[in-house]
Amino acid sequence: METLPIAEKPHAVCIPLPFQSHINAMLKLAKLLHTKGFHITFVNTEFNHERVLISRGPDSLNGLPDFRFKTMPDGLPQRNINAPQDILTLLDSITKNGTILVRNLIAKLNEESSTFSVDPPVSCIVSDCTMSCTIEVAGELGIPQVLLWPMSASVLMICLHHQLFVEKDLFPLKDTSYLTNGYLNKSIDFIMGVEDIRLKDIPSTFWDGSEDLQKILSREILKAPKASAIILNTFDVLESKVLDAMKSLLPAIYTVGPLQLLEEKIPNKDLKSFGSNLLEEHTECLEWLDSKQPSSVVYVNFGSTTVMTKDQLLEFAWGLANSKHTFLWVIRPDLVISEAAILPPEFTNETSNRGMISGWCPQEKVLCHSSTAGFLTHCGWNSTMDTMCGGVPIIGWPFFGDQQTNCWNACVHWGIGTEIDKNVKRDEVERLVRDLMEGEKGKEMKRKMLEWKICAQESMNPGGSSYANLDKVIREVLLDKK
Ligand code: UDP
Repeated sequence: METLPIAEKPHAVCIPLPFQSHINAMLKLAKLLHTKGFHITFVNTEFNHERVLISRGPDSLNGLPDFRFKTMPDGLPQRNINAPQDILTLLDSITKNGTILVRNLIAKLNEESSTFSVDPPVSCIVSDCTMSCTIEVAGELGIPQVLLWPMSASVLMICLHHQLFVEKDLFPLKDTSYLTNGYLNKSIDFIMGVEDIRLKDIPSTFWDGSEDLQKILSREILKAPKASAIILNTFDVLESKVLDAMKSLLPAIYTVGPLQLLEEKIPNKDLKSFGSNLLEEHTECLEWLDSKQPSSVVYVNFGSTTVMTKDQLLEFAWGLANSKHTFLWVIRPDLVISEAAILPPEFTNETSNRGMISGWCPQEKVLCHSSTAGFLTHCGWNSTMDTMCGGVPIIGWPFFGDQQTNCWNACVHWGIGTEIDKNVKRDEVERLVRDLMEGEKGKEMKRKMLEWKICAQESMNPGGSSYANLDKVIREVLLDKK
């Protein structure tokens, strides 16, 4: 796109769902659109805006004249900024109140545009797939509306079939005994492109009792086909079968991932530095990694929302200690349910010469560091893409939501991981860490991972599918120039 004066640029309002991983993916997409000539308004909830300012500094959201950060309320009462957010309450509020909140916000942006003529009028909305409320607002304004699905295509395909699981009487579970009586090991084959998947590998919101959450998600996802297009943070060769199958249900889909590979390509330093961490980032671990041998460190991180019991924390700790491998373990203060996440002094003493415990870290850099050899992860989609871009094989301990399906794909289809039982035991952690770091299985997973890494890079390079799809979605949908 030619460089236009600010007031004439296309103006995309980017609205993520207010959770860490969704904000991260949307910010990357917003930066990408900015490099393609868009004026950007990036919208955080007031609550998260405050949290980013605290974690990244008071100037961190100043933006640029053509990349602005704005806020909207999340519809919930004021609350302690350090308290963890309840996923269900927040999702319920944002999806129920979203239409009014987004309508007000865009009216204000357009009013400012016509009064001050500094920013162009809003010309399109890019929002999270779970914020279908924006489709209505875009319809009222007669502008294109694109949804970002920051998870895998497989998970989107499964979610589109939720009602079929209900009709086939597979879910909801009759009672909690079905969680442990082997029922979830049953395989199903009625989802095109996602063959031979066990019920336990279906997103856990279908079966783990989060019925209210599932209801909200299903309601949102069923509206998704009404959007002008859906953008996915995945790449074609990784999920080709399911993407092909999905085209008959959702014609306008564009794969543009992994968005993780984008940062290094951004020429504008200011833009590159914009971040979205809700927790303060600890960068000392990068120096610590510099001091380690190449391919010698197991990186352990369970993302922003996974929680575990104190016993599970101890099983992981002693499994890592007994493996005798060097590790970097990120422990969030709220990782352990209802308790402080504190490790016993015996563990700390025993591993002091080869273990580092860190707070929230620059994960993408950690996974691209030459010392990092393996990743013990909860298999969040962003972490899965981060590790693919770093070429680091995984041990998965999926906790919730789409993580089950990501772990299944990683182990069964992509050949890049092994899975730890939900009921984690130290011996299994030790064995899988040794397999990953020393065994033939580990070498094979590394080899596969490097192949995927190359495919990911190729898809984002000129001539690659994601590269081409981004230009297509901009031209055909966001600028509406078919
Ligand atoms: N992340 C990070 N530092 C950490 C842990 C995670 O920067 O110490 C980022 C990671 O790069 C990813 C997101 O947080 O963008 C986690 O997203 P994911 O989908 O993997 O999991 P979730 O947090 O949603 O469970």
